[in-house]
Amino acid sequence: MKAIRVHQFGGPEVLKLEEVPTPKPEAGQVLLRVRAVGVNPYDTYMRAGTYAIKPPLPYTPGSDAAGTVEAVGSGVTKVKPGDRVYTAKTLSGAYAEYALALEEQVHRLPDNVSFEQGAGVWVPYGTAFHAIHHFAKARSAETVLVHGASGGVGTASVQMARAMGMTVFGTAGTDKGLELVKREGAHQAFNHRNAGYQQEIMKASKDKGMDVILEMLANVNLGGDLKMLAQQGRVVVIGSRGDATITPRDLMSRRASVRAFTLWAAQPGETAEIHAGLYAGLENGTLRPVVGKQFPLAEAARAHQEILEPGASGQIILVP
Ligand code: NAP
Repeated sequence: MKAIRVHQFGGPEVLKLEEVPTPKPEAGQVLLRVRAVGVNPYDTYMRAGTYAIKPPLPYTPGSDAAGTVEAVGSGVTKVKPGDRVYTAKTLSGAYAEYALALEEQVHRLPDNVSFEQGAGVWVPYGTAFHAIHHFAKARSAETVLVHGASGGVGTASVQMARAMGMTVFGTAGTDKGLELVKREGAHQAFNHRNAGYQQEIMKASKDKGMDVILEMLANVNLGGDLKMLAQQGRVVVIGSRGDATITPRDLMSRRASVRAFTLWAAQPGETAEIHAGLYAGLENGTLRPVVGKQFPLAEAARAHQEILEPGASGQIILVP
């Protein structure tokens, strides 16, 4: 089979398309014929060797694949050959024509969800669910600012928060992104490249501030987020690419808190809640992964360049 292999950490050029043996599922394992692969920012940090988790070299990147079950090892009861599934991590890597996964890493994809959409489920929607339900403990009728709403996690968060009855504000950095954010359910959208947009957000909240802020770029925004929080407000840090400076009194005066997580560390009980919630939302159409740019598997390097560029618009997909 064809797979992307990384033999040394470095820039996008270290992603090489190679011919490798197709894996065979052992007991408790599932072999997936991959139809679409989700590209996520952490794939690029891992490839660069700057992520908390450094896989042994060589490796095949990717945790998010969607496709059909090709074969199962002994003892597997959850899925059978032909079933449509998405993965939440794999054993052999998602950037390939076939991927080997543990039975518990494979989840049924409702019939109304395409493979391209299925490749955008685990990291983006799992993160949105973990942030909204487990960390923000958000409730209907609260207000939420999705700070960075035009990308994978952002669009997922906007759809999820809207469906649960929150008032949703979202930000993007381009007109196309702002349109997307509104189309996916934000009541109001703001451009995070415009000077003074934080004042516009405060005005739109009638100067009460936000109950919840889901933050995609904490190194740039955390200090300002605290000034936009309502009493008892919560910032959930989802993404950050450097250090931040805050004024602790902004937290004290609001009895506010900052929480943060990595999806990798979600506990088994939480993971079960995430997948059950996502299946229900995908099935009833409140969660609709937005497929952005698509590239052939051989162009993984281009996908890695594009995902870090400004102007996000849905989930970037590789097609093997
Ligand atoms: P993505 O699809 O590349 O989207 C990035 C988002 O950040 C876009 O909406 C982008 O908007 C926005 N952005 C750019 N500049 C911004 C600014 N100054 N203020 C606010 N937002 C800004 O990435 P993603 O998959 O949604 O992930 C978002 C971040 O969360 C990444 O850093 C990722 O590594 C991290 N993440 C963390 C976890 C975890 O477990 N904690 C899980 C998943 C993702 P424009 O392009 O429109 O400007």
